[in-house]
Amino acid sequence: MLETDVAIIGCGLAGSTAAAMLGRAGIATVVVDPHTEYPPDFRCEKLDGSQIAALEKTGLAGPILSKGTMNSRIQVVRGGRVVDNKPRRQCNILYNTMVNAMRGEIPQSVERVTDKVTDVTNSAERQTLILSSGETVSARLVIFASGLNVALRESLGIELKMISADHSVSIGFDIAPTDGGEFDFEALTYFSERAADRLAYLALFPIGSVKRANLFVYRDMTDPWLVAFRKEPRNALETLVPKLARIIGDFEVTDTPKIRPVDLVTAGGHIQPGVVLVGDAFGTSCPAAGTGCNKVFTDVERLCHAYVPAWLATPGMDADKIAAFYEDPEKLAADTQSRAKAFRLKSLSTEKGLTWSARRRGRYFWHLTIGTLRRLREGGGTHLPGHVVAGRSGTRKAHG
Ligand SMILES: Cc1cc2nc3c(=O)[nH]c(=O)nc-3n(C[C@H](O)[C@H](O)[C@H](O)COP(=O)(O)OP(=O)(O)OC[C@H]3O[C@@H](n4cnc5c(N)ncnc54)[C@H](O)[C@@H]3O)c2cc1C
Repeated sequence: MLETDVAIIGCGLAGSTAAAMLGRAGIATVVVDPHTEYPPDFRCEKLDGSQIAALEKTGLAGPILSKGTMNSRIQVVRGGRVVDNKPRRQCNILYNTMVNAMRGEIPQSVERVTDKVTDVTNSAERQTLILSSGETVSARLVIFASGLNVALRESLGIELKMISADHSVSIGFDIAPTDGGEFDFEALTYFSERAADRLAYLALFPIGSVKRANLFVYRDMTDPWLVAFRKEPRNALETLVPKLARIIGDFEVTDTPKIRPVDLVTAGGHIQPGVVLVGDAFGTSCPAAGTGCNKVFTDVERLCHAYVPAWLATPGMDADKIAAFYEDPEKLAADTQSRAKAFRLKSLSTEKGLTWSARRRGRYFWHLTIGTLRRLREGGGTHLPGHVVAGRSGTRKAHG
């Protein structure tokens, strides 16, 4: 039996960040995960400014950001034209690269066990993990960072409450110019102004030398457009974002797209002695809203800086101690903002009717105005943005 103060189930983004933070704080920690290396997986692929700020609070930003591709500006397409080229600090990084970089920050003092946790028992004093090898881990505190794994939580009576089934679908793929050249833009986000498109947005951004695409739609997995996308992604894109090729030049999809539907769920019955849930294990987020990593970094930073050291400094690990974490104001704010953004973006992208149409028009004109003012301020001339557009080297054209 392994004896420790803290046992972490799962070494994804939340678990690896927690293991690195606790290890650096000199807290005896064991982390269990079935994979020695985090495998390729389509999850978060970009960190915006707010997420970088949340990551910085963990003290672990440097090694992660150094593995990503930074971009400093993003072109915004609305109404089929480039309306803005806004400064935006963003770190683009494949999820497995990000998690493996974080794993690299876990100090040697943290025991890493490559195995699967099959059972957990908890109490106000010590908790026990049973691993598939038959080994056991005894800890004062267990951190559930096991993502979407349902079975383990259920064995403790922790339920999964559905907030919004099939809330959105995320699609990830690589694109390249058809003529083998290079795109003439750094990063670009394409919004639709039509509710019928059921499109949140298409984001294009660089990861190394590859241009990566993240497409977020609100469609059932049996939706004819998704069926068509699976067979002919380039043609299906043309029907959804018909002006894209005019803006960026002719392009092709160069790999097999990954398509992931996402439910919004949250834990219930989780205030229990000896166990605490972080990241997706506590509640999922909508990838289109892009708040999952805010939740992960906020949960882990608050837990490892503010709560675990204090909990370990006093005897016992009762449910009252644990409850304080779930009431942390920063955690509550991150969760509330994540949920609100998920529903607001969906309504803004899909709701029909005059009010929502007016809101979409309002956003279009707002971005057009801001973009025009920015262009004037930066000395880009008096022409409206959108007349000079993103494109490819050597093929840059003027479009209205
Ligand atoms: C398609 C998609 C796109 C997304 N895009 C964005 C985005 O653009 N921006 C954003 O902020 N968020 C995004 N998210 C959300 C974000 O990726 C997640 O919130 C985040 O990855 C959750 O991290 P985690 O550590 O909680 O879970 P995970 O990274 O899933 O880690 C869970 C770990 O637990 C381990 N595990 C599971 N069961 C066991 C067990 N029994 N024993 C031991 N280990 C176990 C697993 O092996 C895994 O390593 C996206 C999500 C998806 C699905």
